[in-house]
Amino acid sequence: MSLVIPIHANEPQGCSDSPVLVEKGQREVFCGLTGIIWLHRKIQDAFFLVVGSRTCAHLIQSAAGVMIFAEPRFGTAIIDERDLAGLADCNEELDRVVRQLLARRPDIKLLFLVGSCPSEVIKLDLSRAAQRLSSEYLHAVRVLNYSGSGIETTFTQGEDACLASMVPGLPQSTDTTPRLMVVGTLADVVEDQLRQLFSAMGISQLDFFPPRRSTAMPPIGASTRFLLAQPFLADTAKALQARGARHLGAPFPLGAEGTTAWLQAATHAFGISQERFEEATRAPRQRAEQALNRHRPLLQGKKIFFFPDSQLEIPLARFLSRELQMELSEVGTPYLHRQLMAQELELLPRTTKLSEGQDVERQLDRCIAAQPDMVVCGLGLANPLEARGFTTKWSIELVFTPIQGYEQAGDLAGLFSRPLTRRMKLAA
Ligand code: SF4
Repeated sequence: MSLVIPIHANEPQGCSDSPVLVEKGQREVFCGLTGIIWLHRKIQDAFFLVVGSRTCAHLIQSAAGVMIFAEPRFGTAIIDERDLAGLADCNEELDRVVRQLLARRPDIKLLFLVGSCPSEVIKLDLSRAAQRLSSEYLHAVRVLNYSGSGIETTFTQGEDACLASMVPGLPQSTDTTPRLMVVGTLADVVEDQLRQLFSAMGISQLDFFPPRRSTAMPPIGASTRFLLAQPFLADTAKALQARGARHLGAPFPLGAEGTTAWLQAATHAFGISQERFEEATRAPRQRAEQALNRHRPLLQGKKIFFFPDSQLEIPLARFLSRELQMELSEVGTPYLHRQLMAQELELLPRTTKLSEGQDVERQLDRCIAAQPDMVVCGLGLANPLEARGFTTKWSIELVFTPIQGYEQAGDLAGLFSRPLTRRMKLAA
């Protein structure tokens, strides 16, 4: 079998060595607390206790919506004026809130104390608090901490910090048989599809991290090989490598081509034959390619501009340019992790304008001058851009929606074709 043939056949590929515009100005991004919205759904016996202000509480409450049917798995320990004025002992207050919570919710097996701007401003040491509370609840609840603070971060870093905080506690594996770990929060349906595919290829020693239950943490050791399912997990990758695991570099599993290359990185590492790989992937790959064929006529030749927001920008740009023939106007990313992006950069057109970091006013000027057909950006920029006649796509939607793997390739393309169709209908 072969990978999808590059669509821009005449255009030189690979922008690993291309210059990158580095911006260090004002940023328009959500903070890392946002990750709680998808993480709390994934790890079903975990609770995320934000140690923050009413603003932090409002952010996650409104971003997550009101959960009517479920016991919420996140909350905020509000730091109030007495705490800020130093009139109360914040550690005692926090211990009291945690005791109250755990007495009410015996189902919680893993508690994250999530740091915020206010907890950092008053220098509340949440790692010591986590150690203290972990010893108090020994064997019943594990207490970990990470920061979701909005200072100089972007919203997907919350997941990275959360996963990295779990790595030191993963059980040590002494097994010498290679075992695959897929790293990054995926919708359960995507996880089930990937498990089936790996099993059909002969890889059944497989774990997903984070797991669905905190009591089923995957083992880790020198025989662990891991694939990142999300591109924003640089700290987690480092922490896994520090525990002896080996990263399998690959493009990310977006689109038919991305998914094929991602799966192939595992089959190469596990010595799976090309025939077996082909047999296991042929049908879903063809379904993905057919699904993409339906969206290509609308998307091909359309110009797209990415503001730096989710850290998914580079893999999405590769997917849209190679599999749907969209033109890349500018691809902004909050951080450019060259090592994790090496295979993605190789697949971008050589002429791609890459930018790292943000200076929102200058970027808006470039966007307006480029007049793209579609803009991928954060929520804060979408409305003003729509008001100026641009078609936008919220980058956060691409993190919430299941988009990885063959079966989701058509849905992913649909996220870009639908806003264009809507605008055309409105204009008609
Ligand atoms: S952590 Fe900081 S940026 Fe995020 S909601 Fe709280 S105060 Fe705002």
